[in-house]
Amino acid sequence: MTAIPPIDPGRLAAAAQSLEPDIVRFLRSLIAIPAESGQEGPVIERIRQEMQLVGFDEIRVDPLGNILGRIGSGRTVVMMDSHTDTVGVGDPKEWSWDPYQGKVEDGYIYGRGSSDQRAGMASMVYAAKLIKDLNLAGDYTLWVVGSVLEEDCDGLCWLYILKEDGIRPDCVVITEPTQLRIYRGHRGRMEIEVHLRGRSCHASAPERGDNPIYKMSRLVQEVEKLNLRLRHDPFLGSGTIAVTQVRSLSPSLCAVPGACSIHLDRRLTAGETKQSAVAEVKALAGAEDAEVEILNYDAPSYTGLRYPMEKYYPTWVLEESHPLARAAIRTYETLWSKAPVVDKWTFSTNGVGSMGLMGVPTIGFGPGEEDVAHSVLERVPIRHLVEAAQFYAAFPLVFSQHRNG
Ligand SMILES: [Zn+2]
Repeated sequence: MTAIPPIDPGRLAAAAQSLEPDIVRFLRSLIAIPAESGQEGPVIERIRQEMQLVGFDEIRVDPLGNILGRIGSGRTVVMMDSHTDTVGVGDPKEWSWDPYQGKVEDGYIYGRGSSDQRAGMASMVYAAKLIKDLNLAGDYTLWVVGSVLEEDCDGLCWLYILKEDGIRPDCVVITEPTQLRIYRGHRGRMEIEVHLRGRSCHASAPERGDNPIYKMSRLVQEVEKLNLRLRHDPFLGSGTIAVTQVRSLSPSLCAVPGACSIHLDRRLTAGETKQSAVAEVKALAGAEDAEVEILNYDAPSYTGLRYPMEKYYPTWVLEESHPLARAAIRTYETLWSKAPVVDKWTFSTNGVGSMGLMGVPTIGFGPGEEDVAHSVLERVPIRHLVEAAQFYAAFPLVFSQHRNG
């Protein structure tokens, strides 16, 4: 038996509710700062100001540009993550309101980054205030992380934090939108290119050459068939493969090209790995002479640092019986006296880095809805912001008590 946590859910709910205007103000100020991947500097600075205002015990920005705010210094180390970059707005004419204004209407905040995922950051920072105000500290250290480059290369920031920042967390909580459900994994993905060589010649006499586009077109049809026989998992669904680009290398449009390449988007379900995915492509009819390449990410962060990584983002699933999942479920039940929905994300998150690549137990709980992310309808319910703050304030105590017995 673990001890009943000394959390008064009514008092915590009331305290979180009283912070609603602050959470809303902070989130709207974040939405007002556009920050696509590699341009997060100003939004990181804004988060630092709010962390200072709330009274974090330590605030640091690492060389990659991630911001890390600490509360407490106990044994169990809990890290919570919100990426700070957003996607762009696309065609501004598609928007019926200013994507950077943070329109408040009917209990929602609208705008780019509202759900994906500055909402998570706003709730986390004010959870830290709740921990201070209600004395919910325990034998734990909480790190609230604002990470960079997620939209361009999910997981890279966590590879950096876990390998270079010298922190050894017992768990990571991803605050991407889950509709206040508990998510325990998602499919992985990888970016693959396949190259076929031929022999270039003048296009007026194509028989002198060997056209790689014809060979590639046959291979593309094999990829289409491969998609139908990929592995299925009852929790995560099936793996998928799609050709998303075809390119040829030709000295002129009046020449047979010397090389042809395709780009493959591969989604990986449970049990599928980099090795298995590459082997499947190599085994396709017509791929005997193909070069199969996993791409690399090498763009600099806003601080100018490059931290290259292979574009392989492994599948991760945390078992529902894992102590971390049990602590998250228990936190939810303590706060709201009902069982949570436990599910998975459709999209990919930084969990590919924390758990997929580095093996740190990871779980998800966040305000907002996944299906409006990256759309012109992006919004977050204000009620979610307040309730997520309650969860983030209570979770470290519940988890640390679970762990330390
Ligand atoms: Zn996101």
